[in-house]
Amino acid sequence: MGLWNRIQAWWTRLRCPTEFLCDNCKYDHPSACSRPQRPNAVRCPDYRPRGK
Ligand code: SF4
Repeated sequence: MGLWNRIQAWWTRLRCPTEFLCDNCKYDHPSACSRPQRPNAVRCPDYRPRGK
């Protein structure tokens, strides 16, 4: 993983109020997200905070 990706992951985690990204992600639904790491993703390029 490159430095830029690590900075992005760090920044994403900093802004997420829950332990796992999925708990605060608007795609946290089987029909919206088919990623294998759901519902316990700690890194995800598709993560979008709810209500934004
Ligand atoms: S898009 Fe990523 S963060 Fe969102 S529910 Fe799916 S795996 Fe979780």
